[in-house]
Amino acid sequence: MEKVDVIIVGAGVVGLAVAEAVSRLHPDKEVVLLEKWEKFGQETSGRNSEVIHGGMYYPTGSLKARLCVEGNKLLYEYCAKHKVAHQKIGKIIITRNAEEEKAVQGIFEQGQKMAFRG
Ligand SMILES: Cc1cc2nc3c(=O)[nH]c(=O)nc-3n(C[C@H](O)[C@H](O)[C@H](O)COP(=O)(O)OP(=O)(O)OC[C@H]3O[C@@H](n4cnc5c(N)ncnc54)[C@H](O)[C@@H]3O)c2cc1C
Repeated sequence: MEKVDVIIVGAGVVGLAVAEAVSRLHPDKEVVLLEKWEKFGQETSGRNSEVIHGGMYYPTGSLKARLCVEGNKLLYEYCAKHKVAHQKIGKIIITRNAEEEKAVQGIFEQGQKMAFRG
């Protein structure tokens, strides 16, 4: 294995997804995924809360917001297609005072803009 076509460093969710996509799109290429631990998903990806985010916390139109909304839709489609157990339970954001209520109103408006832009 002195020479390979593609090397991806890090077998977290991003590295695994990139490796899958490159292998699928370029089946003729030799793809190597390097990970410093013995197994995949041993760092951040193994500690995540498993929430499929809606994107309402990010500024409207930002790359992060657009990718989050698009990823949300794709992830639900992926789960349905591959029978990955999941629940769409919505989100409750609770406020403790008037100041937080104002902030939540902003998040609510942000979320509505995201929903309309898709
Ligand atoms: C507490 C917490 C909760 C979260 N909850 C959610 C959630 O509910 N929903 C959500 O969408 N997102 C959530 N996130 C964010 C999400 O988990 C991360 O954005 C995502 O896991 C990042 O994946 P990654 O592949 O970029 O990084 P990582 O999972 O950190 O993967 C990087 C990999 O690279 C390896 N690596 C690093 N350097 C080298 C090297 N030199 N050689 C070889 N290997 C190397 C590491 O060992 C690691 O396995 C959460 C994050 C945290 C911290």
